[in-house]
Amino acid sequence: MRLLVPLFLILFLIFLLRSILQGLRSSSAKSRFDGSRPQRGGSGVKMGKMEKDPVCGTYVDIATSVRGVFAGETKHFCSQDCLNKYKRNP
Ligand SMILES: [Zn+2]
Repeated sequence: MRLLVPLFLILFLIFLLRSILQGLRSSSAKSRFDGSRPQRGGSGVKMGKMEKDPVCGTYVDIATSVRGVFAGETKHFCSQDCLNKYKRNP
């Protein structure tokens, strides 16, 4: 009966090692798949989203635009002048 406890521990350790190895394999496979996706998304972010300036009608990159929030809605302007014009006469 005394031998049963160490045997159970060894089996338990083997089971643990197997599950860890399987976890490592699946996580490495997942990281390979995930690695390709952010690169595509990242290139999309670099391109930038374009929004129309409501004052002069120019399309501006939202990353570099002059922003103003009006009634909870963010508007994008090509310059501070357009933002000021919109503030005066929305
Ligand atoms: Zn403008």
